[in-house]
Amino acid sequence: MIIAGIGSNGGIGQTTLLANFFVALHAKKKNVYWVSLSNLVPPLLLHPEDKWTEVETIYREIPVWDKQTCAFCDSCQKVCNSGALSRYADFYVVYTELCNSCAACIYACNKHALKFDHKKIGIMEQYSVHQNILRVNLHNREIFGPWHLKKAVELVLKKFPVDSFFLLDIPSGFRELWADMFNLSDVVLFFTNDISMWEMLYKSVTHDQATFLLVVKSDVYDIFSERGFSFALPLPYSKKISEESIQGNIVTNKQYQNVIQELFLSMNIDVE
Ligand code: SF4
Ligand code: SF4
Repeated sequence: MIIAGIGSNGGIGQTTLLANFFVALHAKKKNVYWVSLSNLVPPLLLHPEDKWTEVETIYREIPVWDKQTCAFCDSCQKVCNSGALSRYADFYVVYTELCNSCAACIYACNKHALKFDHKKIGIMEQYSVHQNILRVNLHNREIFGPWHLKKAVELVLKKFPVDSFFLLDIPSGFRELWADMFNLSDVVLFFTNDISMWEMLYKSVTHDQATFLLVVKSDVYDIFSERGFSFALPLPYSKKISEESIQGNIVTNKQYQNVIQELFLSMNIDVE
């Protein structure tokens, strides 16, 4: 089961909740994997001994242009929907961070002046202290986008038992990835305090894909409830909760832990 944690606000929010949920699933002896879609891992899951081992190399097919065979017809540039191929006088540049490796430019070129290069763009790493904790570590120039998201999901599903729980964590923001996260996930754990944004999102998504679980700060729960979203899970927030999560401890607040139990119920996860 792919469970994506998505947060529209920064600070102590979605990642902290997801990390506490990971610990709870693990304590129940569930086969659960943490997958950071960046090199950031929450303090709760880290140990002073910070050692990571490469488990997968991430390659990407990037077109390489050959000036000698090019006829400068511009066909490649015209078919690229990502704006990843640009002509400058008698030179073509491929912006690898925009390219999604679709191959349209290669098929469009009847001079065979573009060829795919199998390029290493990063690695997936496994934490030596806890082998179910993974992170995606891309080269500096790579900007995490939909292609990388699909690749990360494909790699974990290929490498680890598919009936596991995979908790995907992306840093807050990254809104351009939300639609893809919704498509690739079985459950979306959505953390927000912004009712207008949530209403817009709720109307726009197709609800036959992922199951949406809405989590809000408890002090705004009434606003969500009055607008018809009483199913939102109210998560308490306090200085103590904030300190516990920054220090890498489990959140001990009873109401917070109740929300985690609610997540088990909402996802039909049996807890003995
Ligand atoms: S592979 Fe696709 S996205 Fe990349 S440069 Fe070619 S047409 Fe553009
Ligand atoms: S389609 Fe091929 S020949 Fe035409 S400009 Fe692009 S690389 Fe050159």
